[in-house]
Amino acid sequence: MNAETTNRLKPETPVQYVKGIGPKRSDLLRRAGIETIQDLLYYFPRKYLDRSSIVAIRDLKPGREVTIVGRVYSAESVSGRRKRFVVLVGDGTGFLQCVWFVSAPYMSRLFKPGETVAFSGKASFYRGLQLVHPEYDKISEEGEQNPLHTGGIIPMYPSTESLSEKGLDSRGFRKILHALLPMIPGIMPETLPESLLAEEGLMPLGQALTHVHFPADQASLSGARHRLKFEELFFIQLHLALERRRRETVEPGIAFTSTGRTYKGLMTSLPFDLTGAQKRVLSEILRDMKSPKPMNRLLQGDVGSGKTVVALLAMLNAVDNGYQAALMAPTEILAEQHYITLHRWLEELGIRVRLLRGGQKDTERRDLLKEIAEGTVHLAVGTHALLESGVRFHRLGLVVIDEQHRFGVLQRAALQGKGARPDVLVMTATPIPRTLALTLYGDLDVSVLDERPPGRKPVRTVWRGEDKRDKIYAYLREQVGKGRQVYIVYPLVEESEKIDLAAATVAHKRLSREVFPEFRVDLLHGRMKPEDKERIMQEFKEGRTHILVSTTVIEVGVDVPNAAVMLIEHAERFGLTQLHQLRGRVGRGPAASTCILLAAGGLSEDARTRLSAMEATDDGFRIAETDLEIRGPGELFGTRQHGMLNLRIANLITDGKILETARKAAFRITEKDPNMQSAEGRKLIETYQKHHQARFGLLAVG
Ligand code: ADP
Ligand code: MG
Repeated sequence: MNAETTNRLKPETPVQYVKGIGPKRSDLLRRAGIETIQDLLYYFPRKYLDRSSIVAIRDLKPGREVTIVGRVYSAESVSGRRKRFVVLVGDGTGFLQCVWFVSAPYMSRLFKPGETVAFSGKASFYRGLQLVHPEYDKISEEGEQNPLHTGGIIPMYPSTESLSEKGLDSRGFRKILHALLPMIPGIMPETLPESLLAEEGLMPLGQALTHVHFPADQASLSGARHRLKFEELFFIQLHLALERRRRETVEPGIAFTSTGRTYKGLMTSLPFDLTGAQKRVLSEILRDMKSPKPMNRLLQGDVGSGKTVVALLAMLNAVDNGYQAALMAPTEILAEQHYITLHRWLEELGIRVRLLRGGQKDTERRDLLKEIAEGTVHLAVGTHALLESGVRFHRLGLVVIDEQHRFGVLQRAALQGKGARPDVLVMTATPIPRTLALTLYGDLDVSVLDERPPGRKPVRTVWRGEDKRDKIYAYLREQVGKGRQVYIVYPLVEESEKIDLAAATVAHKRLSREVFPEFRVDLLHGRMKPEDKERIMQEFKEGRTHILVSTTVIEVGVDVPNAAVMLIEHAERFGLTQLHQLRGRVGRGPAASTCILLAAGGLSEDARTRLSAMEATDDGFRIAETDLEIRGPGELFGTRQHGMLNLRIANLITDGKILETARKAAFRITEKDPNMQSAEGRKLIETYQKHHQARFGLLAVG
């Protein structure tokens, strides 16, 4: 590359023009998402190696995760009972074998005697120390100076088998980026305003990109990483700030100004006093509703914290002001439960509540849709059936979405679109760690119900093995004898739905005929007809059924205060949040409640972590944080498909502080310069549109 081409390298230049990358490699890179120089510069090391992170072979202990760096003495396929590929490595303090139980032909080309290589993995002992299937990273070839000897920090890049085969392993990336190194500061223009860099003490971009790839020392590495994390989180927050601004300024929504008859009516007829938290949250909601700005509020409260009644009062406030309200629930059962509750409390106030569900008769449905369209129905309850195009409202003023984590962002927008800028209240029992809430729902205002209704006792939770089954049954019998009701829950996952359903059905037969012939044992699952589900749920609610065998259909929302015991079968198959949700079905009445987690032996480490976490706490926030650690944010909130949480460098669990400052900065900037008209503002918008909008677009609400 001569000086002239060098000068012409731009962020958007295709990687093909970088030294060391021809058309073949650039094809591979494109498939890995690296198309331009900028993509390459933002392809960050997955970790770094310096002398402090290396263990001497002499000091290795089996069972520990380690990185060793040594010279390759031999590398060969070994035949025997199991074919394997073995590399013998020495580091001056001892020798070690690295073993792969595969014999791909390319393996034999990977390592040459005399090379210095870093290997990372868990040490084990089998006729000597070994690392099985370690990660590896070539440090230097024979005769080359080992950079670790000069105290350097070596970046280690992520790679894949197909990239490695074409020389784009960690070392390949290192070489390419190293050749670019002197040019890096000149390639990428600064993306953040000078003033922000100064205020937050951030490293300029060129410098940060230089040091993130080739850090001079630990201090410049952490400075570089801090800057890049800040940038990543800042643009998410800027997106959210702009979204919010756009929504608030486009056109006004509805101002629900008067407090009316039915609201006051329910207030006086409630059989309990609202908790302090409910009062506070309600006043936040009413304040939003009163303002002409469309409300976009997230109501977060652990299971059993009493969200429903708050939503109810908000809906009545809409009705009193001449509007309709819609309540959307994630499952039919929950929609039905809500319908029953609303019906019970509201009918005598003259409020017309109707349930829209799948499988209704055509004529029934047509009448219902007509009533909703004409406005004679005040409150419509339903599942995503409410989103269908045939559903039109007369004057939809408030949309309440229960258990938000079950719904996609797009569905949220769809329901909102059925009114002229209706207010939106989203409710979730998944206590979202604050950092994640700010990222996922940063465009919403958040209210938290952090107090449970009085008299609730924590649910005693125990994890038991199969050997205790008889004892558990004896305990259930004793509890039913004392007048309590029991849930027995079976897992049901989509992949094995038929088998799971059969298991629950068989178990129900056995339990009702052989184990508890003296009790009434019912079965409930999602595949039943809606009428049957409704009837079975109603009979359980009324206390006529002693034991309800069920699949996870009861997971959310179901509310039967006299059910004080829950047995969860195959508890190891459930996710942590799901277990917590299920457990939330008990502990809703005055009696002390118990949740028994029954799990077979031979559990994975993750399963053990989940079950012990359940035993240790019933604080939803701690549960959610543990879950986030085990599973990562994408899976937890069904956002993986959006790709928006595939952050390149920031970590939502550990970078909470940076996120907060990035958020403050983004909101401060949009506050000061609402139309982003200043030179700095225009530049930010340009960067945002060019590099970030596509990535975060789906984060928007409406
Ligand atoms: P969740 O927040 O999980 O949706 P619910 O709204 O279903 O919780 O409320 C759980 C139970 O607590 C219901 O039976 C409800 O009637 C009751 N409840 C709600 N608020 C109070 C209160 N302030 N005092 C006593 N019981 C309450
Ligand atoms: Mg609820």
